[in-house]
Amino acid sequence: MRRLLLALPFALLPLAVAHAADEHDHDHDHEHGSLGAHEHGVGRLNAALDGQTLELELESPAMNLVGFEHAANSDADKAKVAAVRAQLEKPLVLFNLPKAADCVVENQELESPLFGDAPAADDEDAKDEHHHDHSEIHAHYQFTCATPAALKTLDLANIFNTFPATQKIQVQLISPNGQQGVEVTAKAAALKF
Ligand SMILES: [Zn+2]
Repeated sequence: MRRLLLALPFALLPLAVAHAADEHDHDHDHEHGSLGAHEHGVGRLNAALDGQTLELELESPAMNLVGFEHAANSDADKAKVAAVRAQLEKPLVLFNLPKAADCVVENQELESPLFGDAPAADDEDAKDEHHHDHSEIHAHYQFTCATPAALKTLDLANIFNTFPATQKIQVQLISPNGQQGVEVTAKAAALKF
């Protein structure tokens, strides 16, 4: 089910650059929306609504969510990672999906070296010599929404509230109304489907 909806359409979007490919390349041009950089404070979200199926894929530097990117060794670090993981396991709360849309979680998948996972296959480029101690957390959710018409907006305020080290989120959204690339911040955290 992974990237069922997202893989093809996002490959066509100008802003959708394979992530981590130019990590630590400080010449990259944010004006052109390079999503390749792992920049602390900046998260990425792919969202796709197709019929009753909503997919959300949040990719974030671990720094934004847990406050560090090294493997959790101390008890305090392990507790922090566990707490963040528990928050990510409640996507209906995190993404504040309107109750009227009647969405249920069909699948969810959390992935991070901090969770004890091996780096994802698509992080291949991040494993080269430029990859120091940076770690990401990826969360992929698939919902079935009985009343998708009630999904008027996607409000990311809870993400910013829950993870205040997140300064902005670069969103790629595909909905029946088309596709858009939007950068949201805590002050303007909602976007229209
Ligand atoms: Zn980092």
